[in-house]
Amino acid sequence: MKTHYGIYGGQYVAETLMAPLKELEAAYEAAKADPAFAREFEDILRDYVGRESPITHAKRLSGHLGGAQILLKREDLNHTGAHKVNNTIGQALLAKRMGKKRLIAETGAGMHGVATATVAALFGMPCEVYMGAIDVERQAPNVERMKMLGARVHSVTEGSATLKDAMNEALRDWVANCDDTFYVIGTVAGPAPYPEMVRDFQSVIGKEARRQCLEKYGRLPDEAIACVGGGSNAMGLFAGFIDDPGVKLVGVEAGGKGLASGEHAASINGGRLGVLHGSKTMLLQTPDGNILDTYSVSAGLDYPGVGPEHCYLHDTGRAEYSVITDDEALAAFDALCRFEGIIPALESSHALAEAIKRAPKLGKDKLLLVNLSGRGDKDLENVRRYRDAKNN
Ligand SMILES: *Cc1c(COP(=O)(O)O)cnc(C)c1O
Repeated sequence: MKTHYGIYGGQYVAETLMAPLKELEAAYEAAKADPAFAREFEDILRDYVGRESPITHAKRLSGHLGGAQILLKREDLNHTGAHKVNNTIGQALLAKRMGKKRLIAETGAGMHGVATATVAALFGMPCEVYMGAIDVERQAPNVERMKMLGARVHSVTEGSATLKDAMNEALRDWVANCDDTFYVIGTVAGPAPYPEMVRDFQSVIGKEARRQCLEKYGRLPDEAIACVGGGSNAMGLFAGFIDDPGVKLVGVEAGGKGLASGEHAASINGGRLGVLHGSKTMLLQTPDGNILDTYSVSAGLDYPGVGPEHCYLHDTGRAEYSVITDDEALAAFDALCRFEGIIPALESSHALAEAIKRAPKLGKDKLLLVNLSGRGDKDLENVRRYRDAKNN
């Protein structure tokens, strides 16, 4: 099994976690080789999530921009409103196969917590979610959702009481309870085999999109564009096109108030090499190696690191990584609402903003495929607050 991507990745964990990681690796290898596992995964994606998700041609928006055609891969139409559920279903199925009785997860904005609580209910497993105390307050509606779905939410007051502290607590729980507990990680981060496993579960996005593009347009897109928090929706999209050198892969990081302001979440464009969450990767950190608190208008992009495979794709030049600011993302959010009748998640609005920048410079025959990772209902209050602050 692949544990490194160039110099990135690995298993930087306490000795006590090596045994459960090896157990997980072996179980995942066996599941991958078992057609019954794939069949059950596909059945649930179809009958519960509502896959496949369509591709929508953003005709009015593309016409307005006057250049390339923008195509949207509609992960916002999944049950729970985002791509995260693809991955939590895969991991919960694996947990069941391994005979684990209990799911734990960490969450920042609460979206991964909700997706984990959802599958825990679906499979009848108890679920405990670790969340920084500050996030519990900031993301109260998602805390309510998790509780309604039957999960227990632990408010973590250690450290800065945000996502990185919640990850530490979840790892601690796993060390203590690994016999009966499965740790569900929400993005392509963490120690091996998580980055590969999460990418594989999310690769349904890119595989579907590739086939749909060929069927509908008779060709592949010129560029595939996705936002990058930890990087799971982007890796899922990229996985479909990684062996097609004619398809440019573009990851979009959260630029917050601009790279120069220091208030952003752009780990590849603004970070340095370090170790977080059991993996060697690009991180936002102080000169002496303390993890920095990230900032973005979009809570789901607020991860201080990034999946190790993204760092590798960046170094090899197979993918490029740009930065979109809060203001640009909000403008893209408005544009999709007004031109297409679709309210996108603020995370996804970052990817869309990058496409909006690129489209006018390209010919009308070019295709830009944007992963619309989630819907924006959860962000309405945030958008309103952001606008009020701007107008004062
Ligand atoms: C969590 C989330 C993201 C960011 O996570 P990735 O692992 O980078 O995909 C992006 N979009 C939405 C809608 C999310 O909920």
